[in-house]
Amino acid sequence: MPLSSARTVDGQAGLAAVAADPTRALFATDYDGTLAPIVDDPAQAVPAPGAVAALARLADRVGTVAIITGRAAADAVSLGGLAAVPGLIVLGHYGAQRWQAGVLSGPPVPPGVQAVREALPGLLAAVAAPEGTTVEDKGTALAVHTRRTADPAAALALLREPLGRLADSAALTLEPGRLVLELRPPGTDKGTALRELVAERAARSAMFCGDDLGDLTAFAAIRRLRADGIPGCAVASESQETPQVAEAADIVVDGPPGIVRLLAELLLARGGPTGGRGSGRSSRLRARRWRRACSGRR
Ligand SMILES: [Mg+2]
Repeated sequence: MPLSSARTVDGQAGLAAVAADPTRALFATDYDGTLAPIVDDPAQAVPAPGAVAALARLADRVGTVAIITGRAAADAVSLGGLAAVPGLIVLGHYGAQRWQAGVLSGPPVPPGVQAVREALPGLLAAVAAPEGTTVEDKGTALAVHTRRTADPAAALALLREPLGRLADSAALTLEPGRLVLELRPPGTDKGTALRELVAERAARSAMFCGDDLGDLTAFAAIRRLRADGIPGCAVASESQETPQVAEAADIVVDGPPGIVRLLAELLLARGGPTGGRGSGRSSRLRARRWRRACSGRR
């Protein structure tokens, strides 16, 4: 399948709408596993080569560019070098936090997070969590990773129930992901964050790219937006760890490098058919490339 050919009629219509009026489009993407390859140490997860430059160029042409991540917003900005993207909006902690133009906003951390922070070491010892189980302290959430254990899937299965009980006891939500269980404050998800951002920015079309279970709410939001008359397209950064994400997507690409290639295709026309600079043969060629990229023809 060509890179930017949607496999659903509605997804294709979403792509076409973005192409037709990029200045009123919203492009949002997850960070880990989508913009940045998954690595053993989450503190070392940096964007795929070319990703930030492509986002920066896209931000010149598309009305809104956003990152919607489970990370703390400022963490994603500093780790990803995302301050280089003009006008970027970063929604952290599944939409509970916002970073924009260097300003961070969000609610206070609920007390349950500190309770979990204190209880986790004892709980992991009590259930004999295998060697290699690691805790990532996100500030307003705690994530337990099993990627570095000998049998990550078995370790995840072992931990799911006790961590679920701990989350309940602290009035937190257990958020499952790619070889990770996160205990985080309830009340937000990426789907709600995406829909609210589309409304705030008065976007007339939307794309969202994600790789993990927490991104499925944003894919559902794309479908709801379409039902409300706002064309949209859901893009999966494919992973064998979460096949259900690709199954729910309109476009499937091969991990973060595939996302970078998709961005490059979207950029071929230098602003799309209505925003290209210059005139004559070159601008007509750019416009043709943009339409071709967004229609799925090669
Ligand atoms: Mg992800």
